[in-house]
Amino acid sequence: MSPSEPGTDPDVSLVAEIERLRRRLDRGRSARREAERIAEDATRSSIEDPLTGLANRTLLAANLENELIRAARIYDRDVALFYLDLDRFKLINDTYGHDAGDELLRGVADALRATMRASDTIGRLGGDEFMVIVSDIGEPDALRLAGRIADAVESITPESTGGIGCRASIGVAMLRGRTDLDPGDFVRQADTAMYAAKQAGAEVRLFDDDLLTESDEKRNLRRALPRAISDDELVVHHQPIVDLTSHRVIGFEALTRWRQPDGTLLMPDMFIPTAEESGLIGEVGELVARKAAQDLFVWQRRHHDTDAIVAINASPRELDRPGYAHRVTLAVEEAGLHPDKLIVEVTETAIMEAGQVAEDNLRALRSVGIRVALDDFGTGFSSINRLRSNAFDVLKIDRSFVANVADRSDDRAVITAIVALAGIFDVKVVAEGIETEAQLDAVTELGCHAAQGRLFAMAAPIDEVAGPLDFV
Ligand code: C2E
Ligand code: MG
Ligand code: MG
Repeated sequence: MSPSEPGTDPDVSLVAEIERLRRRLDRGRSARREAERIAEDATRSSIEDPLTGLANRTLLAANLENELIRAARIYDRDVALFYLDLDRFKLINDTYGHDAGDELLRGVADALRATMRASDTIGRLGGDEFMVIVSDIGEPDALRLAGRIADAVESITPESTGGIGCRASIGVAMLRGRTDLDPGDFVRQADTAMYAAKQAGAEVRLFDDDLLTESDEKRNLRRALPRAISDDELVVHHQPIVDLTSHRVIGFEALTRWRQPDGTLLMPDMFIPTAEESGLIGEVGELVARKAAQDLFVWQRRHHDTDAIVAINASPRELDRPGYAHRVTLAVEEAGLHPDKLIVEVTETAIMEAGQVAEDNLRALRSVGIRVALDDFGTGFSSINRLRSNAFDVLKIDRSFVANVADRSDDRAVITAIVALAGIFDVKVVAEGIETEAQLDAVTELGCHAAQGRLFAMAAPIDEVAGPLDFV
């Protein structure tokens, strides 16, 4: 998360050193001076962020508490709290290395020092998040000041990135004379405003109660997601895909779950949207690609079946990120898997609305042999023209059409049409969500090539996934 976490504990060896030096104090003035210097360093390192020299969390918390107490005593003394987060910092860190990331963070610290008064508290919360406490300031001035900070950050051009810097999103919360607001809530207000600014692509956003639509639950998810990624809490389960002629398992779809500290699994619909909104979806996707490839490799070896494939899901936001295809290809190759054993599932809507970057990614995926599937087909709005120009290899029929296929003639007609369309484009059709024998018979009869669903198996850890002949 952070290239250099701020130190929180005073160095234990420093404390021992001070003790040792203290015993020698009477042996000379120079020893006393040295001891004093070290003691000062120890104090400073417990309240200072070592990378930037700004206040660390401990000092920020203490000063905020003090400011709130003082504001409560002095009438009309307003306090502004700025929560600042850098956009694209992770990308810069990953692309140019941690030294470049550190240079940028120090640049931001300098920009903040140059913009603020000496009486303001400027601190780094960790990673690319900064906080500023400003007292005796009204709302218009606070917003102007935040704008100046944003400009200053944007004008940073680190040498180590060849001048590529980043933008800041700044959330501003005003105390407005409230005496019942505890520091934690005040920080949450500024954080919420920062997030709203980021969402809207704005530089500065003032907190107001309307922003409280992000539920506590969602905010907790957003805050916990980076940890889930770094602590390996995201797990990948696999659902078998069965060939409808041979009934062999021809591969599986990798579906992500978030294992909670209490052992329960959070389903992707609960956290993928949050990952998308907070920009962490790229990391989730890479992680899933790598794990899916590793798992397939394990399965192939166990079952002596090297033809099996694995499908991963890509959300529209991932497809829109430059380099997505490259990163997925790398992840798969690093796991020792040939790219032609990977399918990337993208929703119909994502393909239909694909911009230039997404188109480039799709082309790049297919150029190395990775196949593209149109997921949840039938639920979006496809134009035949776009389908024709957009190369894809598999159509996955959404399970809403499969659900009543055994007794609704219109759903049968839709599937018949999709199968015919697939024939024209020369692509395979997979039916999703098969739960009953009747549904299985119907989609087989209608010409679907493969199917997946509860009738065969739900997604499970790779060690529990069916073997190639389990449904024959
Ligand atoms: P999807 O790609 O359409 O995946 C199929 C979903 O249908 C899965 O839900 C699967 O467990 C469920 N399913 C399979 N068979 C049956 C069945 O017979 N009956 C019913 N009712 N449901 C069945 P899951 O795992 O909750 O995933 C939901 C969605 O989350 C996926 O829909 C996919 O769009 C998304 N997702 C999952 N993993 C990832 C991921 O790693 N990255 C991204 N971007 N999205 C993911
Ligand atoms: Mg899918
Ligand atoms: Mg689907």
